Amino acid sequence: MASIHLQNIVKRYGGFVGVQNMSLDIADEEFLVLLGPSGCGKTTTMRMIAGLEEPTEGQIVIGGEVVNDIDARDRDVAMVFQGYALYPNMSIYENIRFPLRMRGIPASEHDARIRKAAEMVELGSFLDRKPGALSGGQRQRAALARAVVRQPQVFLMDEPLSNLDAKLRQSMRVQIKHMQRQLKVTTVYVTHDQIEAMTLADRIVIMNKGAIQQVGTPDEIYSDPANTFVAGFIGSPPMNLIQGTARDGRFTAPGISVPCPRFVHGQVTLGVRPEDCHVGGDNLQGQVYGVEPTGDVTYLTVLGGTNKIEVKAARDYRSDIDVAIGIAFDPAHLYFFDESGQRIRG
Ligand code: ATP
Repeated sequence: MASIHLQNIVKRYGGFVGVQNMSLDIADEEFLVLLGPSGCGKTTTMRMIAGLEEPTEGQIVIGGEVVNDIDARDRDVAMVFQGYALYPNMSIYENIRFPLRMRGIPASEHDARIRKAAEMVELGSFLDRKPGALSGGQRQRAALARAVVRQPQVFLMDEPLSNLDAKLRQSMRVQIKHMQRQLKVTTVYVTHDQIEAMTLADRIVIMNKGAIQQVGTPDEIYSDPANTFVAGFIGSPPMNLIQGTARDGRFTAPGISVPCPRFVHGQVTLGVRPEDCHVGGDNLQGQVYGVEPTGDVTYLTVLGGTNKIEVKAARDYRSDIDVAIGIAFDPAHLYFFDESGQRIRG
């Protein structure tokens, strides 16, 4: 088991900067999730930790040892990628055994370790089958068993659930988290799915354009976003971001008027989450644009001036479109951002 330190890591591809000056300390036993949109540098960061890419600048330290010059195969990390390539001609048993053979683990230990890894992902009774005779989720679990069987210092997982349907993703998510807690292996997990990040992570690193935007626990990232990028990336639907003007303790935009702290002034962006918007009130006066019942909650879209504001309404809320409506914003949960998108704090 091991901590991981990235010190001023830069990755350039010719003139293009894939990862810019990234520093990050990952604690021993931590479950860290790298989250961000396509192309933000998540996979590149992970591949540098794995040893599959070399940083252009900076140091990578795993378990107290600088590993920049150590080959991927000697880094004692296990990887699970999307697509989970199992060997189709080998049984699941032999697939899981493969890393033990590669690492020269004594044959006398194989059977017990394979069975334990298979039990952990509930594949104990599928060991004789070939991958082709398993479902997608079972194959994914076999790939996980193959990663855990040799008890590495570090797990690296790159979108391991992206090929699975929604229901399977949820059950695999729980399984991965349970397994990581059981094995206590430092884990770095890459995803662009904010629900996966929120549910799995001890801490989330939000990246955009090769740079870290914020590092924090899921609660911190959700309730205390550092900038409009983080605010707009987390939450489903995400935070409403409304451009307007703040003056003398009041923020206004077309159809919108709310009190704001006096230190907020000029051209600013108001952030308010859909669950902090309530039907009935006068902070927003607009028209109903759309109503989407989902069963446990109803999504209401309100047109205020040129802004479309998302509201989480009661499950039984219904309305025709174009009806005039007033919305109250919870004053305890308003966020303000400056023109560069950074949070304005008192
Ligand atoms: P995705 O979610 O789409 O996999 P990502 O966040 O994992 O995205 P990376 O694969 O890390 O993104 O890529 C970061 C940036 O670096 C991208 O703009 C990508 O085009 C660029 N990049 C990655 N590999 C190379 C390469 N070998 N040569 C040139 N540019 C590259």
